[in-house]
Amino acid sequence: MNVVLISPYEIGRQPFGLAEPAALLSAEGHNVSCVDLAVQRLADAPLAQADVVAIYVAMHTATRIAVEAMPRIRAAAPRAHLCVYGLYAPMNETLLRELGVATVLGGEFEPALLSMVRRVAAGEPEQSEPVIAHGKFTCLPPQRDGLPDLTHYARLLLPDGGEKIVAFAETTRGCKHLCSHCPVVPVYQGRFRALPRDIVLQDISQQVVQGAQHVSFGDPDFLNGPTHARRIVSALHEQFPGVTYDCTIKVEHLLKHADLLPLLSETGCLFVTSAVESTDERILQIFRKQHTVTDFARAVTLMEQHGIALAPTFVAFTPWTTLEGYLGLLCKLAELQLVNAVPPIQLAIRLLVPEGSYLLRETEMRPHLQAFDPHVLGYPWQHPDGAVDQLQESVQALVAEGEAGGCSRQELFAEIWHAAHRACGQIPPQLPARVFGRVIPHLSEQWYCCAEPTEQQLAAY
Ligand code: SF4
Repeated sequence: MNVVLISPYEIGRQPFGLAEPAALLSAEGHNVSCVDLAVQRLADAPLAQADVVAIYVAMHTATRIAVEAMPRIRAAAPRAHLCVYGLYAPMNETLLRELGVATVLGGEFEPALLSMVRRVAAGEPEQSEPVIAHGKFTCLPPQRDGLPDLTHYARLLLPDGGEKIVAFAETTRGCKHLCSHCPVVPVYQGRFRALPRDIVLQDISQQVVQGAQHVSFGDPDFLNGPTHARRIVSALHEQFPGVTYDCTIKVEHLLKHADLLPLLSETGCLFVTSAVESTDERILQIFRKQHTVTDFARAVTLMEQHGIALAPTFVAFTPWTTLEGYLGLLCKLAELQLVNAVPPIQLAIRLLVPEGSYLLRETEMRPHLQAFDPHVLGYPWQHPDGAVDQLQESVQALVAEGEAGGCSRQELFAEIWHAAHRACGQIPPQLPARVFGRVIPHLSEQWYCCAEPTEQQLAAY
């Protein structure tokens, strides 16, 4: 069978979600081609000969691009069986089927993907695989040689102006927490699965051989399995002492597993991304984040003590965000000297409510919800104060223009600072240089998995 695997967008990463099924499908004797629309064109895909086209959607931005690209994929691969798989596939099942997608797979999708290809080969088009699976499966080292090499992907930018080639790896899937706004929750419902340590390390090794000097771990939360994480980073450091890494860890875990921070620091952890989400206690409670604003500040201090940079992420605009609350977020970042640690897009993120979101169960959310809109792949909401929605649009436009024009984080923060004060009818106070904080190591891709795609991203395929 000729199988084409397509990734629309993967925040600057060489997609694990293509490389891993490519290995499994190739091992069964199929002819697999991979196309990453973040760095390649749809025309690069051998679609005319495809028996199966499977599109990987692990995030909102990717799903929006996939939906836009679907008519062209269908036209270029008229006889192919269409499949969409990954975290965002099950929650968009109805829409995807309306677009002609025959198989929709999420969770531990690998066995079902193999079964689907066998079924199509046998001439059975009707989906018989579960849409969400959580069973165990046999992993193989991802087959990365069918993808553009690592130099085409996000680089690590160091404060001294240096750069490193980045490998991308996952050590777990899912999450054991139930944050109400999180897209992982509807699919994993508080479960997570550790991927075999030897496979993770083999995958990293093959990327180091390709030139990677830094590993970006894509786990939803690296410390869901602290023992697994400890063993992975210890083995990584032993095998490749010069290779650094970053990962994502929630505030609650940073505080609870503070005893692991010295090990992370010693084994080359340069920065930790943490979904802080808000500096408003009410919003943190609605999101069921299990941390407070004080916990956030404690985590900042703790990370400083261990020499690991903290890169917080936010859902800056929600139905409960006030103009003063937004200003409060900017002031908190200035107070904690984190301006240079926050990618500006984080200050523009508007809460997404996809199908299946646990937020749909929250009484506080219901009054704000409108009917599901397939164009935005979610339930739109309008803020009771139109000035907040206007500010969100202004900040989003400032960030998109600033990113395109190469503005620094400081410059963009200063523009947003002015816009937020103007929205509040206040004269913005001067920002003293110390509030910007230190420039931290970060990846060159500045867009984000929950951000709406830019016009450029939507048109690029
Ligand atoms: S936001 Fe983070 S901690 Fe919460 S459920 Fe999602 S992945 Fe887990």
